[in-house]
Amino acid sequence: MQKKQFALGDIVEMKKPHPCGTNAWKVIRMGADIRIKCTGCDHSILLPRRRFEQRMKKVLVSAEQTESQVKDRE
Ligand SMILES: [Zn+2]
Repeated sequence: MQKKQFALGDIVEMKKPHPCGTNAWKVIRMGADIRIKCTGCDHSILLPRRRFEQRMKKVLVSAEQTESQVKDRE
């Protein structure tokens, strides 16, 4: 199985959406634990990295991509 790639600032989709109905989470802390914030209601949760990787479905918007888009506009 391929290891999931994600980085600080990425917007990721999880296997289960947040109860508020949003399924887009921003990675706001990287470490042994990963903190992600719901982009719908700003609620943040802390998950051990292993659990985060199990629950994450895919990266929706990578932070690098967002940065290059900003640069293009300038
Ligand atoms: Zn939410």
